[in-house]
Amino acid sequence: MPEIINLMSDTVTHPTEEMRKAMYEAEVGDDVQKMDPTINKLQELAAELVGMEDSLFVPSGTMGNLIALMCHCPAGKEIFLESASHINLLEGGGVARVAGLMPYQIKGRNHCILEPDDIRAAIRKEDVHHPTPGILSIENTHNVGGGTVHPIDYLKEYRKIADNYNLKFHMDGARVFNAAVKLGVDVKEIVKYTDSVMFCLSKGLSSPVGSMLCGTKEFIKDALKVRKMLGGGLRQAGVLAAAGIISLNQMTERLDEDHKSAYKLAEGLSEIKGITIDLSAVQTNIVFLRFDEKSDKNAVYLGNELKEKYGVLCGVRNPGLIRMVTHRQISGENIGYVLDSAKKIMG
Ligand SMILES: *Cc1c(COP(=O)(O)O)cnc(C)c1O
Repeated sequence: MPEIINLMSDTVTHPTEEMRKAMYEAEVGDDVQKMDPTINKLQELAAELVGMEDSLFVPSGTMGNLIALMCHCPAGKEIFLESASHINLLEGGGVARVAGLMPYQIKGRNHCILEPDDIRAAIRKEDVHHPTPGILSIENTHNVGGGTVHPIDYLKEYRKIADNYNLKFHMDGARVFNAAVKLGVDVKEIVKYTDSVMFCLSKGLSSPVGSMLCGTKEFIKDALKVRKMLGGGLRQAGVLAAAGIISLNQMTERLDEDHKSAYKLAEGLSEIKGITIDLSAVQTNIVFLRFDEKSDKNAVYLGNELKEKYGVLCGVRNPGLIRMVTHRQISGENIGYVLDSAKKIMG
């Protein structure tokens, strides 16, 4: 058995040697006093890269999204979001409990991509009975959708909707660089339609900790205060920012390799009896495998066998569903090994 092959998430990526060295050598200060030079450098770099006025380092993507919602929208307003989005399902309900927003869940089509007309249909006209529409949130790439990418034309439509109905437009862009690489465009071309974007340094970009929240200077000024309120004001955070700078300078373009290996993995697995994969959803680095949950060789069985006999970890969601995610620590050789192992187990 070789080393553990971990396909559970791209969050499992470890910092590179170069990151560890930069972290060791990082110049630091108290970031709550804005005196950490490495954090300041990362924040300038991130803002420049996405083409926005300013940015803020936050400890997690969840906190970044929450801060964005709280800064854009007073409690009691309505948020329009995709029903299987991370903010709706996977952030502990902070959208309601902490931000106090009223989620209006809209089911996406085509692997969780929101149809502009479905959003228009959801926005009700002013009436004393209705919560006031406040914000539209889009997840790009969409995790539960399978790492799916929003077409630029859709982003333009979302912007028009936001302008027409006086909504803010936030992007949960945890994996927005995967979207940019997939579309072959500068990330600026994706985020320019939004009022704010959050992206993660700690996923495919391989940093150990952290996310960035980007927007106007005024928005980031508010965000700074809300981050402090939520307990996200860190002190010598430059040790983390040092890795983040390397993520932004060196790790974005290589995401294409993860997309290629995900597709290779998906193609191979889809040929195995008992596994169904919709290859049209495999657009970036995420692969969902579907099973007949009543079969002896269902998702739980494959997940356990892969782990126990072959040292391969993956995300078993339920007896009918597995998620696999490719990243920097998954080589072409690893993909071949996973395919061979799955064939033996299912065969
Ligand atoms: C991972 C993720 C987040 C949150 O990031 P954490 O750093 O884990 O809090 C938000 N949105 C999406 C789509 C994600 O995949």
